[in-house]
This record gives sequence, C-alpha cells and structure tokens, in this order.
Amino acid sequence: MSNHIVPYKGSSDLLNHIPTDAQLLVIGTSPGGCDVARLASAAGLKRVTLVSRNGRLPKVQPFKRDLSLETEVETRIRSLEARAQLQPTGKISLSEVLNEFLDLVNAIAPDFSWEEFLNASPDAIQELENDVQVARRSGANWQKIMLPLGVRTPRIWRLLSDEDRHQFRQKYESCWITHRHGMPLRTAEQILEMLKSGFMRIGALRGTVSERAGIFSVPVCLRPGELQIVEATHVVVATGPNYQCTSESENPLIREIARSGFTESHPLGGFNLEPNSFRLKGRPRVYCIGAMTRGVEFYINAMPVLLQQSTEIVHDLFRRLR
Ligand SMILES: Cc1cc2nc3c(=O)[nH]c(=O)nc-3n(C[C@H](O)[C@H](O)[C@H](O)COP(=O)(O)OP(=O)(O)OC[C@H]3O[C@@H](n4cnc5c(N)ncnc54)[C@H](O)[C@@H]3O)c2cc1C
Repeated sequence: MSNHIVPYKGSSDLLNHIPTDAQLLVIGTSPGGCDVARLASAAGLKRVTLVSRNGRLPKVQPFKRDLSLETEVETRIRSLEARAQLQPTGKISLSEVLNEFLDLVNAIAPDFSWEEFLNASPDAIQELENDVQVARRSGANWQKIMLPLGVRTPRIWRLLSDEDRHQFRQKYESCWITHRHGMPLRTAEQILEMLKSGFMRIGALRGTVSERAGIFSVPVCLRPGELQIVEATHVVVATGPNYQCTSESENPLIREIARSGFTESHPLGGFNLEPNSFRLKGRPRVYCIGAMTRGVEFYINAMPVLLQQSTEIVHDLFRRLR
C-alpha cells in the first residue's frame, strides 16, 4: 500500500504526517469518515472530500430512549420469533421482516416506502440541513426505531436464511448503517458548517480509485446529476473494520490463525463459529467476539452488542465450568 493511502483506525494523530496543502480523499462517509473530516479541519487542511457507495452522511440522532417504542419493537420481534418457530427451517423471509418494520415506520411517517427511500439520491447539504432542523425541533423522525432495534438486531438476524442475509447485505446494509450509526446534533452542526463553507465535500462513488504519478482520481457524483473526477494527493480509508479473517489479512495474528488451519474462515467475513455460540468452529475452547464474528452475526460494531456478546460468552463459560 502506498504511504499516501492510510487506514483510519480511530487515532487522532492520523493526519500528522500529511502536508496542509494536501488534497485529501476519504473513502467512507459514516462516523469514521466524519471524524477524519474533523481531524483534517484541525490539522489545517484546505479541503476534504468524503465518498462512499451512497454518498450519505449518518443521520442525526438526538432522541432519548422511548420505552413505549421499545415495548412495541420487542413485541414485534417476539412475534417474528414465534412465526419462525412454526417453520420447519426455523427461519422467516426477509420481506416478512421488512414488512413488519415498515408497518411501524409508517405509523410515524405514513408516506415512507423502502423503494423510494433506497432509490433517492438527495443533496447531502439539504438532507443534513433538514435533519438538523428536525432534530432541533423534536427528533420525532421514523429513524428513532433504530435505537430499540440496535441490541435486538442479532435476534432478527438469526431468523433469516443465508440467502436473505446476503440479500440484506447487498441491498439494505449501506442504508442501515447510515441510519443506525447516527451522529449527535452537535457533531451534525459542525459537519453542516464544514459542508456549507466548502471545506468538506461529499459524494457517491461512480467508479474505482486509480493512481497515476502520485495523483489519485475517482469519478464521484457530488450533487444529484453532477458527475466529476475528484483528484487527491492522499487517501484515508475509513470503511470500518476489516472483516476478512483470511490468510491475506493485514493483521499478523489473524493471518497466522487462518494460514495454520487452526480454524476456518467464514465466506461472509470473520471466522466460522460453532452453531449458536461464539466458539470457534472445531476449537470449542476458543471464543471470539466483534469483527471476527461478522460472517455469522451481522451487527458487531457497537459497544452494546459487544457487551451482549461478552455476556453470552461469560454465561457459556460458567455453564461449562459447573
Ligand atoms: C468515530 C467512531 C465513533 C463510534 N461511536 C460509537 C458510539 O457512539 N457507540 C458505540 O457503541 N460504538 C461506537 N463506535 C464503534 C466502536 O468503537 C467499536 O464497535 C468498538 O471499538 C469495537 O471494539 P472491538 O474491541 O471489537 O475492536 P477494537 O476497538 O478495534 O479493538 C481491537 C483491539 O485489538 C488490538 N489488536 C488488533 N490486532 C492485534 C494483534 N495482532 N495483537 C494484539 N492486539 C491486537 C487493537 O490494537 C485494538 O486495541 C464508533 C467507532 C468510530 C470509529
């Protein structure tokens, strides 16, 4: 990897070595990408461009815990679990799950439809401005269902077949991340300021990044209908943790585990696990957690779900030690 391409790992000294006249391209528009924009501003850079598949910023999450919504979400998940139990496979279809929650979304936003929502390519500044206004007023947006859904996501994931899981990842994951990993109002206001001043640009990728004579370039849609080639001298990759646990991994520990045949990699990421557990396949005395469970689990990059995984591991250990 060129030393002008660096991965974002959450450290604040990421841009220390980058000259202030650098043109910075950030791959990733989720909280990690936004954090790089903030670092770029603090480091005195003149401009930063953030790009991703859908070119959407995280939503604003000003809302507090809503107990009645939490009860509603829990009831619906129990109903899905009960329906799955009646099936010989123990699974239910993705469309059944989506309809269950569309119903709940429509109770808050009657005109909402998945298709319209997924095909929309809104102007990032306008969308954020609107989100900030809604958040300042009340925060009563349909997106508030993402809060109670968060820690319950692994339960829903277990009800889906591998095929449906794959479909969800292809079609809905990017939008799910945008809504699930929202940002606080204060951060959103800072981002809006950076966008309005022209310091920060955001766009949807329309091709791959190429490099020639030290200049990176990539086709990006910066505003609906406007395609532009963005050029950069430096690139930060902020696309989240690397889920691939294979012999090609950059992490020496993961690479060694995969190469030695100690356990097997999962085709959808992470390592394979023993059924309904966090034990490594064929290595029942070794547990794994977080990014390494990505193939079997889905939602693995937030503290509450990691806490849940650790609790399950501790319970399993105690059961076995008794
Ligand atoms: C900008 C940003 C904002 C976020 N905000 C939130 C939030 O508000 N709420 C929330 O719940 N989550 C948030 N997250 C996500 C949260 O930080 C992650 O889900 C969490 O840190 C993942 O924890 P982890 O222990 O699985 O992995 P990590 O935090 O990545 O820890 C892995 C550790 O393993 C070490 N390691 C790696 N390889 C080796 C090796 N070979 N040998 C020894 N050690 C090794 C690493 O150095 C690191 O210390 C945010 C993430 C980002 C980037």
